[in-house]
Amino acid sequence: MLSKEVKEKLISIVTTENFADSKTERLVYSYDATPNFQSMPDAVVSPRNTMEVAEILKVCNEYKVPIVPRGSGTNLCAGTCPTEGGIVLLFKHMHNILEIDEENLTITVQPGVITLDLIQAVEAKGLFYPPDPSSMKISTIGGNINENSGGLRGLKYGVTRDYVIALEVVLPNGDIVRTGGKLAKDVAGYDLTRLFVGSEGTLCVITEATLKLIPMPETRKTMLVHYQDLNAAAKSVSKIIANKIIPTTLEFLDQPTLKVVEDFAQIGLPTNVEAVLLIEQDGPLEVVERDISKMAEVCKSEQAVSIQIAATEAEADALRTARRAALSAVARLKPTTILEDATVPRSEIANMVKAINEITEKYQLTICTFGHAGDGNLHPTCATDARNHEEMERVEKAFAEIFEKAIELGGTITGEHGVGAMKAPYLEWKLKKEGIAAMRGIKLAFDPNNIMNPGKVFAKDSKKRVVVTR
Ligand SMILES: Cc1cc2nc3c(=O)[nH]c(=O)nc-3n(C[C@H](O)[C@H](O)[C@H](O)COP(=O)(O)OP(=O)(O)OC[C@H]3O[C@@H](n4cnc5c(N)ncnc54)[C@H](O)[C@@H]3O)c2cc1C
Repeated sequence: MLSKEVKEKLISIVTTENFADSKTERLVYSYDATPNFQSMPDAVVSPRNTMEVAEILKVCNEYKVPIVPRGSGTNLCAGTCPTEGGIVLLFKHMHNILEIDEENLTITVQPGVITLDLIQAVEAKGLFYPPDPSSMKISTIGGNINENSGGLRGLKYGVTRDYVIALEVVLPNGDIVRTGGKLAKDVAGYDLTRLFVGSEGTLCVITEATLKLIPMPETRKTMLVHYQDLNAAAKSVSKIIANKIIPTTLEFLDQPTLKVVEDFAQIGLPTNVEAVLLIEQDGPLEVVERDISKMAEVCKSEQAVSIQIAATEAEADALRTARRAALSAVARLKPTTILEDATVPRSEIANMVKAINEITEKYQLTICTFGHAGDGNLHPTCATDARNHEEMERVEKAFAEIFEKAIELGGTITGEHGVGAMKAPYLEWKLKKEGIAAMRGIKLAFDPNNIMNPGKVFAKDSKKRVVVTR
């Protein structure tokens, strides 16, 4: 519970209207999109501007009250679960697009702007903001920046990090710092912008961001390639890139995913094939046509059984929407859905898919696998029931083996969903003790009182690696 003194100080900053500590309100913000994590905050505070954020941070720093910044709570790593209590900081008043600068090709926004609103606002001006997480209808830019989110267009255009060029942040001591600018070049000192991107609310509060825009591609084409062999689909991915084509989108869906997505979306997806690749290219018409036909040839040479090219934009949009609905569709199967984020070099995609299937078989689980194959980023997603403790033990062992395999193949424990509280015990597998110590040093320099999203990224105890015998 907050002390009377802290509560009064916070109310004096944001007014009673923007301070809530009723049980109902606290319950609403006690969890996020991550299954099996819940913990009550002491209060929920909604600042109206940067100065209020700075005043709140000063109070929390003085009284050592944890702060959990929260966008829409769609993260999948328990990044906004208030595991150590304290206040949840909401950005419901800080949700404005401040400027679209068509000369410098930038957009400046407050953190609470919804990703899709930003994308549509720039598209109305013939401009393009590529990062498109599947959650874009509800996720916020503040959340995207703090998780360094990716999306379906990441292969060709990169992820959120590649578009953040300037930030306004408030440090735990209340200092307001501006990093970067509307600049193509800037090497003045350490690159703090890059450091804050992906920092999961553990270093500062982001109160404003300037993002790079690019011109809208002239045209795009979408195709769905069917396979009766998972391996062949996975091999096509690296072969397309080896043929020096970088498509906008190169997504993988296995048969269990296809079945649940078709049941949900009803758009005529094939459910009798082992896997599909959803491939998209954009750019000038002649380049798009040349790349699409070259990629179709590559897929055929890798035993694709058929290729379906979307005839209209509506058909293409239905395919993209179906892919984006994969997680929601799997979630209809059982009460608990655990989505993972193992990522490997794309040349290892075939090996990773094979390993996931063997592990699924070994632990007798329902795992649907889909993901950004072109980025080497797979989402093995387990439909389970948290009340079945015996099955949950098998799920945990299976995912530990999946992470272990990803690292063995030169990959990582998370490609885009972040570490949060969920993956924190596994971080040492990827970074080793020395890497964690270096990161702890950075955390300590910015946040000596550990008030910013404590309990995230750094675990009290690291998981022991198991030696897997296959
Ligand atoms: C159905 C579904 C599909 C998804 N698809 C994708 C996908 O395709 N690609 C992908 O990368 N992710 C995906 N995600 C994960 C999630 O949507 C992203 O991580 C997203 O960026 C989170 O945005 P949010 O606004 O919900 O942030 P939140 O979940 O509220 O917060 C995320 C992190 O950012 C911090 N934070 C938020 N705002 C601020 C701020 N202003 N200052 C400091 N810290 C802040 C929080 O403390 C937390 O650590 C998906 C999730 C779901 C549920």
